[in-house]
Amino acid sequence: MDRSLLPIDRRQFLKAGVLTAAGMGLLTCVHKPSVTFEPLKPLRENPHKKSAASTDSDDSKPDLEKVLLIGIDGLRPDALEVADTPNIDRLINEGAYSGKAQAGKYTMSGPGWSNILLGVWEHKHGVKDNSFKGSKYDEYPSLFARLEEVRPELYTVSIVSWKPIHDHIITTADKRIHHAWQDKGDELVTQDAVKILRDQDPDVLFVYFADVDETGHQYGFHSTVREYVRAIERVDDEIGQIMRALHDRKQYSHEDWLVLATTDHGGRGTGHGGQSPEEKTIFYIARGSAAVRGAIAPPPTQVDIAPTVFRHMNVPIDPAWKLDGKAAGIK
Ligand SMILES: [Zn+2]
Repeated sequence: MDRSLLPIDRRQFLKAGVLTAAGMGLLTCVHKPSVTFEPLKPLRENPHKKSAASTDSDDSKPDLEKVLLIGIDGLRPDALEVADTPNIDRLINEGAYSGKAQAGKYTMSGPGWSNILLGVWEHKHGVKDNSFKGSKYDEYPSLFARLEEVRPELYTVSIVSWKPIHDHIITTADKRIHHAWQDKGDELVTQDAVKILRDQDPDVLFVYFADVDETGHQYGFHSTVREYVRAIERVDDEIGQIMRALHDRKQYSHEDWLVLATTDHGGRGTGHGGQSPEEKTIFYIARGSAAVRGAIAPPPTQVDIAPTVFRHMNVPIDPAWKLDGKAAGIK
């Protein structure tokens, strides 16, 4: 199959008003139609239509709901707009998007990923920084723990290049893999995700990339910093490989994948942790047949990710969980 079919059309973005005027001038000269994954399958109105690649003769079963959650640490949406990112752009074009989504009160990784993976804010989970002191994960466990509790038959996988996520937040999942960022961690996260998508049958897969944040700390979190923009382009390539593996799955035509992507915080200068718009403004993507295409209004927040995963996975939200968010960007 010719993978260059369906080139990215950034004009769709512009029409949708997703990009800011600041990004537009640069985008016209960096456009490159290097899409690496295959077309989205038909939407829900005909979910069981057999594709040429289908080998399953049983069309009576409903599609299997699945989630790929992509975490990119420290990615500012305004820098994402400037970077040449055909794979992320495609997720945006085919899904629901906000470049005005909001992080919480403490713009650091410990609290940020807690907000995202638990679905409650810091006044409940108690994490204020990367020491994780005061955490109440027993009372507010991760979405992985909830999924395993309600639907233990699900195969859940988390692959990260920042270990504290597994030490503290995702302590319950069927498979947890950590690769140190310093030792090509992001590349190894990608390799493992590709292998698992090819050889196994994950229902919920979380992949996390540290490189963008690490590069921001070294050179600066800004759309004019070449090294930072290049790090974003590298992670886009990782995501392209993962999306290709997802689309190449033998059962893909009988699966209903929701792809979510977000970040824990932005950055300012070479750091983050404060309350500035540069640190608090984040992106949010929801792509799949369940997604409501276009800009998400009002902008979602970090705590909306977990309820969105639960809704797609048909896991009823128990009021006793005291979640702070609501499903965003999907029907
Ligand atoms: Zn950082």
